[in-house]
Amino acid sequence: MKKLYVVVPCYNEEETLVDSTYKLTQKLNSLISDKKITEDSRIYYIDDGSKDSTWALIEKLHNENSFVNGIKLSKNRGHQNALLAGLMSVKNECDCCITIDADLQDDINSFDEMIEKFEQGYEIVYGVRNDRKSDTAFKRGTAQLYYKILSFFGAEIVYNHADYRLMSSRALDALESFKEVNLFLRGLIPLIGFNSCTVEYSRKERLYGETKYSLKKMVALALDGITSFSVKPIRMITVTGFFSLLLGVGMLIYSLVQWKLGNTIRGWTSLIWSIWTVGGLELLALGIIGEYIAKIYLETKARPRFIIEKVLDDKGEDGKKCK
Ligand code: UDP
Ligand code: MG
Repeated sequence: MKKLYVVVPCYNEEETLVDSTYKLTQKLNSLISDKKITEDSRIYYIDDGSKDSTWALIEKLHNENSFVNGIKLSKNRGHQNALLAGLMSVKNECDCCITIDADLQDDINSFDEMIEKFEQGYEIVYGVRNDRKSDTAFKRGTAQLYYKILSFFGAEIVYNHADYRLMSSRALDALESFKEVNLFLRGLIPLIGFNSCTVEYSRKERLYGETKYSLKKMVALALDGITSFSVKPIRMITVTGFFSLLLGVGMLIYSLVQWKLGNTIRGWTSLIWSIWTVGGLELLALGIIGEYIAKIYLETKARPRFIIEKVLDDKGEDGKKCK
């Protein structure tokens, strides 16, 4: 039996919290009676600087319901930071945790399968949507395009997985060794490695309240996803610079031939050649500077260079070590 914490970020979720707490409590109770989790398992709410009565509600629920614990962030820091705050707070309290949005659009009935997978030795279990029927055509289209762009730029993410997942406390320890501030957990967590698998579910519509992900927040998250995991855009500048310099050389030959054939007016040859060559040189120089910036950028992230999954030594230790 495992001690489970359900980590739930909440931003202005007063409409949905009572219902969600009721459903989560039922779920935890049924998992406890099935002997899948221990009785001291908890629901862990993170109030992400809500402007409505979310925190007062969490306090009330905490007093009424022994499953409910929570923390309050000093101001709105966004979904990803709220999630991380929750994960780092429960890290040493539980054997595993499941993160889920407060509206429970993700199917809580997948908890059973996730916990089974954890018992089988998987340290990260990704919840993956098996359809996108509950999305608007706009969200469906942009999401698909986004996955394509991300994989083009080389970020390793799980297709159709948002932040609904189970993580072992060991995986949480490893996550702690990533120090970056521009968080995109969906890209970061696969970098941890360890045994992982997926569980499919069907996502429901939001029952209460409105989406807390404004278009602005969504675009910011999407950009973070690309710029936090790839220096490919910089590499593209270098490559473009190199090719436009080559084109400059081609233009030199072409304009000299045209000049020799007498097809040009005065000044055209030197002007056209310079435009191409100087343009190419500038772009290439920018790209080279970019390559150095990319290196600095990767260094400043101070990501762990390795994470040890298993150790065989005299102490028989089987733990995580990061460097
Ligand atoms: N959320 C948060 N901080 C924010 C925005 C959202 O903690 O600044 C939480 C929100 O309360 C919810 C989750 O992130 O639990 C996902 O938000 P939502 O369900 O509105 O997103 P959608 O399902 O529409 O993509
Ligand atoms: Mg939602």
